[in-house]
Amino acid sequence: MSAEKIDPKYIQSYCSGCGLCHTMFGCELKEDKKGFPTVVNGNPAELKHICPVFYYEGAAKHDVWGRVKKALIGYSSDADVRFKAASGGALTELCVYLLESRKVTGILHTTYDPADQTKTIACVSNTADEVRSRCGSRYSISVPLYDLQELMRDGETYAFVGKPCDVMALRRGIEVDPSLGERIPYLLSFFCAGEPSVNAQNDLLAAIGTNREKFDEITYRGNGWPGYTTVTEKDGNVLKMEYKNAWGKHLGRDIRNLCRFCLDGTGDAADIVCADFWYLGADGTPDFSEHEGRNIIIARTERGVEMLDGAVDSQSLTIEDDFTPKVDTELKLYQPAQYKRKGTMGSMIRAMRLCRRKPPKYGKEYLKKYGSHLDGKVKRKFFLGTVKRVLKGKI
Ligand SMILES: Cc1cc2nc3c(=O)[nH]c(=O)nc-3n(C[C@H](O)[C@H](O)[C@H](O)COP(=O)(O)OP(=O)(O)OC[C@H]3O[C@@H](n4cnc5c(N)ncnc54)[C@H](O)[C@@H]3O)c2cc1C
Repeated sequence: MSAEKIDPKYIQSYCSGCGLCHTMFGCELKEDKKGFPTVVNGNPAELKHICPVFYYEGAAKHDVWGRVKKALIGYSSDADVRFKAASGGALTELCVYLLESRKVTGILHTTYDPADQTKTIACVSNTADEVRSRCGSRYSISVPLYDLQELMRDGETYAFVGKPCDVMALRRGIEVDPSLGERIPYLLSFFCAGEPSVNAQNDLLAAIGTNREKFDEITYRGNGWPGYTTVTEKDGNVLKMEYKNAWGKHLGRDIRNLCRFCLDGTGDAADIVCADFWYLGADGTPDFSEHEGRNIIIARTERGVEMLDGAVDSQSLTIEDDFTPKVDTELKLYQPAQYKRKGTMGSMIRAMRLCRRKPPKYGKEYLKKYGSHLDGKVKRKFFLGTVKRVLKGKI
C-alpha cells in the first residue's frame, strides 16, 4: 500500500491510542464515542511508520509466539511484590533490577489516576519503592506515550513498560528516530487481551453493586493470583468479584476496535514480555482458582536476555523452570485465548470482508502461519461470531 493511498479513516479505525504520534509529530487525540482516545489528524505517510497496525503487513517475521530467545517460569523473590502484583511481579522486579543496577534512571509506566481509579495516568518511577507501589494491572484506557517529552528529563535514560501496542509503536518510532532509543533503551510488555471502554467500567461497577457516586478505589486483580476485582466505596464498604467474571462478563465485552483485531497480544516488539503462567486443571485447561502468582518471562532480544539473566543473578527473580524448548509446543495450553485469537484472525477478516467492512490489512503469510495449527471448527465459530457482531452493530 503506498503512503498516498492510506485512508485517514483506516488509521482512526485501527488507532491504538498510544499517543506516540503526539510526541513525535504533534498529532492530536480526541475521545471517540466510547471514550477511546483516537488520532484525529496527522500525515498518513508518517503514521504508517509508527502505528502498530501496519507492522503486520507483508511477509511474516516470526511465528505465533513471536521471537523467543529465552523463556523462564518464575516470580518475584519478594513475597509482598509477588502477592500484590498482577501475576508474579516479574515485570516489577525487572524494573527494580534496571534501576538498582543503574542501567536506567527511571521507569516510564502507568498507574491509577488518583482522581478516578477507573482511569490511568502515565508516570515515571525513579526508585524501587515507587515501582513496587505501582505494580498491578489496570484494565482501563491508558495513553502512555502522549506525554513522553514532559515525562523525560534531559540526560536521563529510561525503561518503558506498556501494552503490546504501546511497545510496538515505540519500537517502530525508535526506527524512525534512533535518538528516542538512546533515551529509552529497554522496552517491556505483557500479554494483553484488550483495553476496556468507559462503558465497560460502568457496567462492572454496577454489576459489583456500586456506582460512580459511591465508588472510591478499584483493584482489578492482584493481592493474590489472579486475586479478586475489589472495589472500596467512600464509606469503606468493600465489594468483590471473581477476576474471571470481571473480565469475562464485563471488562472484556467492550474493548477498543483494534483490540478485537489485534495480532499482537503477545508483545512481539518488546525486549521482554511477561504473562500469566496459569496452573493447568485435570482437563488440561487453565485453572483460574487462587494460587501464588507466577509468570512466564520471555526475552525476545539479546538486551532482553541480558536483563533477564541480570535479574536472575541478583536473586530478585525466583525461577521454577526453563520453558524455552517447550514454547512452540506447550505455551498454547497455558495461553489458549492468545493462541486462538491469532489463529482465527484470518477467519475474522474474511467475515469482515463478507460484511463489506474494512478489516486490518494483515499480511497473508501471518494469517496462514498463525491459523495453520488451529482446528477448522474453532475458525468457523470465530467467523460466525464476527458476522453476528457486525449484524448486531457491535463492530
Ligand atoms: C488491559 C490488560 C489486559 C491483559 N491481558 C492479559 C492476557 O490476555 N494474558 C496475560 O497473560 N496477561 C494479561 N495481562 C497482563 C497481566 O495482568 C500481567 O500484567 C502480566 O502477567 C505481568 O504480571 P506481573 O505480575 O509481572 O506485573 P506487575 O509486576 O504487576 O507489573 C505490571 C506493570 O504493568 C503496568 N501497567 C498496568 N496496567 C497498565 C496499562 N493499562 N497500560 C500500560 N501499562 C500498565 C504497570 O505500570 C506495571 O509496571 C493484561 C493486562 C492488562 C493491563
